[in-house]
Amino acid sequence: MEIRKYGDPVLRKKAALVGRIDEETKRTCKAMIEAMIRAKGMGIAAPQIGVSQRIIVLDVDGQLHILVNPELIETSTEEIESQEGCLSVPGVEGPVARHVKACLRGTTLEGESAELRGEGVLARAMQHEIDHLNGVLFIDHLSPVKRRSLLKEFSRKKREKDE
Ligand SMILES: [Zn+2]
Repeated sequence: MEIRKYGDPVLRKKAALVGRIDEETKRTCKAMIEAMIRAKGMGIAAPQIGVSQRIIVLDVDGQLHILVNPELIETSTEEIESQEGCLSVPGVEGPVARHVKACLRGTTLEGESAELRGEGVLARAMQHEIDHLNGVLFIDHLSPVKRRSLLKEFSRKKREKDE
C-alpha cells in the first residue's frame, strides 16, 4: 500500500467516523501498520493510505496503539516546539508547537472504549495523527514563510527522486 503524499486530496478531507468495526476495518489497520513500518514512521492515519476513515496507529517506544474514532479529550496548556515530519511530506521537517501532554479516547479493534495518555513524543504523535483525520498537515502549523521554503524543498527532493 502506497503512502499518499502532499498534494493528494484525500489528505485534505475530513475523515468519516467508523460505524462498525468489521473485517474491513481490521484489514485497513493491517495495511496501515505495514505501510508505517516500511516507511519507519511512528504513527499513521488511515487517510495516509487513501482510506478516509477515523483510524490511527501509533508506534512509540515499542508500544503499538490502534484507535478507531479517536478524540483528543484532554491536553496540557503547556506546549513545546520541536522538529516534526510526516510520512506524507517525506524528506522535510519543521518546528511545530504541540501540547506537552495529551489524552485520547477511542475504540479498540475489539470494540472496547479505551483511553490513551501520552507525554512528549507520544503526545506529539497523537496530536499529529488527529490532525490528519481533520485534513490538517503539520506544515499548516508553520509560518507562511517557513511553509513555503519547506514545500519548495519537498518539491525539489520529489523531482530529484522522480528523475
Ligand atoms: Zn503525518
